[in-house]
Amino acid sequence: MAVIFAADVHLGPERPDIGERFFRFLELQARQADALYLLGDLFEAWVGDDDDDDFAKMVPRKLRALSDSGVPVYLMHGNRDFLIGERFAKDSGCRLLDDPTRLELHGETLLLSHGDSLCTDDHDYQAFRKEVRDPQWQRRFLAQPLAQRREFARHARDASAQYQQRQPPEIGDVNQQAVEALMSGGQVTLLLHGHTHRPAVHDFTLADGTEARRIVLGAWYEQGSMVRWDENGIELIQGL
Ligand code: MN
Repeated sequence: MAVIFAADVHLGPERPDIGERFFRFLELQARQADALYLLGDLFEAWVGDDDDDDFAKMVPRKLRALSDSGVPVYLMHGNRDFLIGERFAKDSGCRLLDDPTRLELHGETLLLSHGDSLCTDDHDYQAFRKEVRDPQWQRRFLAQPLAQRREFARHARDASAQYQQRQPPEIGDVNQQAVEALMSGGQVTLLLHGHTHRPAVHDFTLADGTEARRIVLGAWYEQGSMVRWDENGIELIQGL
């Protein structure tokens, strides 16, 4: 039983090279797996399941080919594509996951998260997150014409890029106390997330003395990144 995970693919029509890399991954590595988990920010931006852009319509078909082949695909929202809804899930054959989600396999429990909720040192971002994750905000947003929603996404992206440049790098990383609180609360010693684009394996000790591990998936801007979990263990693989 081999399960694979990826996050922060950041698919979009303006980066066909990422699309090619990801679609190849779906046909090769994912096809060989027993399940695929996509842990947020599959898209650079997602303005609603009714998006009629060619690229937005192609991705669900690619995922559907995988799920139809018998590989279940699970999808968690990220901070860029939290508006993915039931229609996308149906079209793509994906099952939507809560953040966090527990996964038990090979006698171990793994906690899955996108990771943005753990970046608690970034107060501005957490305030923005609270606003846009509100169902009422989302209903109002989705009621706007597509052109207006795309404009908002473009603006949010530019503003975010400028904001990131002004921030000291540690602000954009997870807060260790938030990590430990999530893991202790979930009674797990293994956490897998993305979002920070800092692929790594971090070993540390929880307050009760238990050894814990946090694995961070990488973004797909320059190369593919995945985690593979099978009976031999869990491994972060860069350079797809
Ligand atoms: Mn993210």
